[in-house]
Amino acid sequence: MQALLDNLRLLVGANHVLTDGDLSAWEQDWRKRSRGKALAVVRPANTQEVAAVVKACAVTGVSIVPQGGNTGLVVGATPDDTGTQIVLSLQRMNTVRAMDGANLTMTVEAGCILQSLQEAAEKAGFLFPLSLAAEGSCTIGGNLGTNAGGTQVLRYGNARELCLGLEVVTAHGEIWNGLSGLRKDNTGYDLRDLFVGSEGTLGIITAATMKLYPLPAAQLTAWAAVPSLEHAVALLGLAHQHLGAGLTGFEVMGQFALSLVAKHYPQQRVPLYLDTPWCVLLENSDSESETHARAQFERLLETAMEQGCVTDAVVAENLAQAHQLWHVRESIPLAQAEEGLNIKHDISIPVSRIPEFVRSTDALLQANIPGVRLVNFGHLGDGNLHYNVQAPADGDAPAFLREQEAHVNNLVFDAVQAFGGSISAEHGVGSLKVGHLEHYKSPVALALMRSIKEALDPQNLMNPGRVVRVAAAGF
Ligand code: FAD
Repeated sequence: MQALLDNLRLLVGANHVLTDGDLSAWEQDWRKRSRGKALAVVRPANTQEVAAVVKACAVTGVSIVPQGGNTGLVVGATPDDTGTQIVLSLQRMNTVRAMDGANLTMTVEAGCILQSLQEAAEKAGFLFPLSLAAEGSCTIGGNLGTNAGGTQVLRYGNARELCLGLEVVTAHGEIWNGLSGLRKDNTGYDLRDLFVGSEGTLGIITAATMKLYPLPAAQLTAWAAVPSLEHAVALLGLAHQHLGAGLTGFEVMGQFALSLVAKHYPQQRVPLYLDTPWCVLLENSDSESETHARAQFERLLETAMEQGCVTDAVVAENLAQAHQLWHVRESIPLAQAEEGLNIKHDISIPVSRIPEFVRSTDALLQANIPGVRLVNFGHLGDGNLHYNVQAPADGDAPAFLREQEAHVNNLVFDAVQAFGGSISAEHGVGSLKVGHLEHYKSPVALALMRSIKEALDPQNLMNPGRVVRVAAAGF
């Protein structure tokens, strides 16, 4: 191993091969569920260095965990505890290589922080719509690695749909340049789509060509109290009719989720409507004008009130108020963490079946674990719920997690399957859900996934044990 470390120091510079000191930023996952031990954290500066590092590791049979901002929620970006894996951090590769206004694309390196890309696009007069609460620290490489979703999927799609091309270092250390920026290219298997969402198990994304959009003339946000989830779904239907493509966000939040924000962040000064069971956050992006967007929004909310879908609502007066409303939504995961350890589920269900799913699964969990607290919120417009389970109020959260996690997961995931849903809507599989995937994914799909993994990474050196488990072939 010493020879490999010496070689890595030659390849990327001694300052960028970290072996001593506090490496917790790279070794511990964001939720602090798992702490691994890396042989080294290696921080290459460019694609050629990434390729050289991969080749050196392949020769010595050392496995690689690619890492961006380490904000993933499924324990996929940190090393195991053997001290034999390297963490390959893309953080130094953070250049915007090109901005092509006529093609409506930008080509960026994998380590670019998402928020800096939104800002770079805006500076050039465009919108880069990918948006999620971790945008201040997650990277575009990690977003593509996990096929991240976020709050704008309803209108613009997830990371996969925003991506036109990739540059990838393969498990053999070769560089594939697929940064075409083409919107049409039917020349065989879509390699880009193989790597997007593969969570670092097939190769390392070093750069990407991403879609840009015109900046909207106005963006308005509203907060509405709704009497039930059925009414929230009805409001979504009305919003589609009234706003069309202008509907760029539709988030739902349960009363308990919002009460946690009120409890842990009492300084939030927005109408939480804590006396109603659900609230909805809507966003209307308009290409015409703010007056037009406001009139559209007001007509929608009037109709929704007439039909009983909405009991009360406010439309943000200005950008600062809109940010405050979004901030409340984005504070839910943080407030939940303040409340204590919890069992997270990032699931998707056909929108029409969500109310029935929540009613029956809430009842099932209450019957099995009296007093259990359910933190429900998410991207209702995409059929994506964060269906999280917190210990009873007087319970011991770590003990609850230890004793009930497997049981709770089985109840929730069985229900998800019965409703035709997915056990991972946007966070991915990592190592946290690898066993669940083996249980719930069809054997045919799993076999196809294993064939792809074995073909692209025959030594099983790319983030092994994540997404799909295979043995190294013949090594
Ligand atoms: P990391 O955590 O570093 O890595 C994630 C995975 O991608 C790992 O498997 C890693 O090996 C792989 N990877 C990283 N970089 C590369 C690369 N260059 N090439 C190949 N593989 C790579 N996700 C959503 O989808 N929607 C949300 O709304 C959302 N909200 C969040 C809110 C908070 C507060 C937090 C902490 C997380 C949230 N997430 C959300 C999780 C989300 O997956 C990550 O924030 C983000 O997409 C991961 O980016 P990252 O750079 O931190 O990746």
